[in-house]
Amino acid sequence: MSVCLVVEKANASFDTVLIANRGEIAVRIQKACHSLGLKTVMICSEADRSAKYGEAAEHFLCVGPSAAAKSYLNQDAILLAARLTGAGAIHPGYGFLSEKSSFAEAIDGAGLVFVGPPASAIATMGDKIAAKRAMISAGVPCVPGPDTALPDDRELVERTAREIGYPVIIKASGGGGGRGMRVVSGPEQLHEAIALTREEARQAFGSAELYMEKFLQHPRHIEIQVVCDNHGNAVWLGHRDCSMQRRHQKVVEEAPAPGIAADTIGPVGQACVEACRQIGYRGVGTFEFLYEDGRFYFIEMNTRLQVEHPVTEMTSGVDIVKEQIGVAQGRPLAFRQAEIVCNGHSIECRINAEDPDSFLPSAGTINDLSFLEGPGVRVDTHIHAGYRVSPYYDSLIAKLIVHAESRPAAIARMRDALAATRIGGISTNLPFLRALLDDEEFGRGETDIHYLEHWLKQRRPA
Ligand code: ADP
Repeated sequence: MSVCLVVEKANASFDTVLIANRGEIAVRIQKACHSLGLKTVMICSEADRSAKYGEAAEHFLCVGPSAAAKSYLNQDAILLAARLTGAGAIHPGYGFLSEKSSFAEAIDGAGLVFVGPPASAIATMGDKIAAKRAMISAGVPCVPGPDTALPDDRELVERTAREIGYPVIIKASGGGGGRGMRVVSGPEQLHEAIALTREEARQAFGSAELYMEKFLQHPRHIEIQVVCDNHGNAVWLGHRDCSMQRRHQKVVEEAPAPGIAADTIGPVGQACVEACRQIGYRGVGTFEFLYEDGRFYFIEMNTRLQVEHPVTEMTSGVDIVKEQIGVAQGRPLAFRQAEIVCNGHSIECRINAEDPDSFLPSAGTINDLSFLEGPGVRVDTHIHAGYRVSPYYDSLIAKLIVHAESRPAAIARMRDALAATRIGGISTNLPFLRALLDDEEFGRGETDIHYLEHWLKQRRPA
């Protein structure tokens, strides 16, 4: 593993950024670019040709058909768009190509700046075994289990499971998106579970490499946001709780994570920034942890901007996207760790175009739209009245974010904001979000990652 700090782009200068993404995050990045005095090149697929953010860009180019594989995932077309428009940098947003090390390499190879970490850091963190090994050597607490691939030797595998203690979880080293994992509650299921997960991993991720770790039964999902520059500065910006998940998809996120003492999380945050220094990390990133019985266990690092970054912006006062672009320009961070003080409480609700009961995606034209406006309320979105929600992409259409002096005050503000939100013409998950924000357990906080699924089952017994 490389331990050197990457400095070769320390003076990268560019005045135009191509945003290789769509939807709300394309708008968010465009705003950050404009506030830094940078021009933007926006791309689109055929389905997104009428996106309004195209009007505010220097150039708006269609890079391919509606299917993402032929447009937003088409590296050659995106690089060609950058070349044609004279963009000096490419921001990948989240999803799509944001965690493809080959994309970062190709951008570098074309003499452009990738607004993200070095390709080597993306590759290391994309390999979960390599990531775990790197974290252990940096002193970041990990889930019990070896930082090596599962061997073929059946006896050795059985011994490893016994040593960890059942239940264990078998995970694909190249896995992602909540796929390529299988829980094993006893030795009788072990070999079949390994065979099935191996085959799945081979087909879905092109690598049959697996590893095993302890399966934690009631963890919360807590994550730490970091930002690092090319000048040796690495800072963590507090923590978030993203335990409200349905099918491993986050629904509601908040900062800070409720009920975690500063002296419990502090050493973990410090270990994260130390790990960043050791791997030569640059830009923004998130360390994801499971948290159970007062202990943190690293599960993965996301080497990109995250959907839920606004809750950290609201509490820390740091514009994460502006800092990310500044780092890509070679600027040092505008703050030091001691200056980061998180204030109040922030909550984000993901508003999806989907049926609130079946969660099936809902496409169509939005004919009526309004959000609450006022202090402590932020809406990150690309939609407008007349916008056509296409069936091709993720169903996220807006993020509703609130900030207030305390968690109860933030919940109250979010309830007001949800009550006032009107999105007509399509189905959305607003009724579901309103009910969840009214839930007493959510109000108490500290619910685990299974809570939402149980809550949904109770509301609608099969
Ligand atoms: P992915 O990259 O596919 O998102 P992660 O490693 O982040 O995979 O895990 C996704 C989810 O799977 C976690 O948020 C958690 O709900 C569950 N999970 C993963 N590892 C464990 C574990 N060791 N114990 C319990 N749950 C786990």
